[in-house]
Amino acid sequence: MRVDLPVPEVVLAIAAHPDDVEFQCGATFAKWSEAGTVVHHLICTDGSKGSWDASSDIEALVALRQAEQREAARRLGSIGEVRFLSQVDGELGHGLELRGEVARVIRELKPRVVLGHDPWKRWRIHPDHRAAGRLAVEGVVAARDPHYFPEHGIEAHRPDAILLFETDGADHAESLAPRHVGAKVAALLAHESQFETTMRIDIDGTDIDARDHQAADFGRRIFTECRDVGRLAGVELAETFHIIDDI
Ligand SMILES: [Zn+2]
Repeated sequence: MRVDLPVPEVVLAIAAHPDDVEFQCGATFAKWSEAGTVVHHLICTDGSKGSWDASSDIEALVALRQAEQREAARRLGSIGEVRFLSQVDGELGHGLELRGEVARVIRELKPRVVLGHDPWKRWRIHPDHRAAGRLAVEGVVAARDPHYFPEHGIEAHRPDAILLFETDGADHAESLAPRHVGAKVAALLAHESQFETTMRIDIDGTDIDARDHQAADFGRRIFTECRDVGRLAGVELAETFHIIDDI
């Protein structure tokens, strides 16, 4: 397991849904932001399936989830952009047109490191995570070579590395301080619309103490996860990735 890239100047995470970035690399983003990295987010879907309430106002949910994503990025200390491809949640494709859109974003933002879902993870059942992973990897290939999408009229851009999160083949760790994991928890808790579905926090709100207690439990779970993967890398706290640096 390799530990810690040199702090990159600019990074871009490409994720399927609002909150995926925070779950997968939020603490790493907090660490890099603190060190001066410009951190950008590209969220592929609109998050419109993110409710268990069949009578949800979908338009309002989409707007809320975008606002939550921006607040989460702010809590990580991110000074970069938060962009949305606004594809329908659960129906993300990875065709040529979307690949071109992702390549355009990479060419515009010029990240040194691109982070995304590992599209080769076994037995993952969510189609959007697989599709977003393919878009990230194939978007990098298209962005780096000038004969892909010349109609963009933007110079080709070759990142130094791809870090794949949610991977079966972790071989790279970013070491973290407790404050970075704390920022990750705070950023995740910005996604209030997902308290019930993802974080198992009661959204009823009638019992504030119980809700705070569940939020604290959730925070401890995140710390435990970072401690467990840190042990694999020989550090106190970490997030892990599969690194591709031959691009
Ligand atoms: Zn997701």
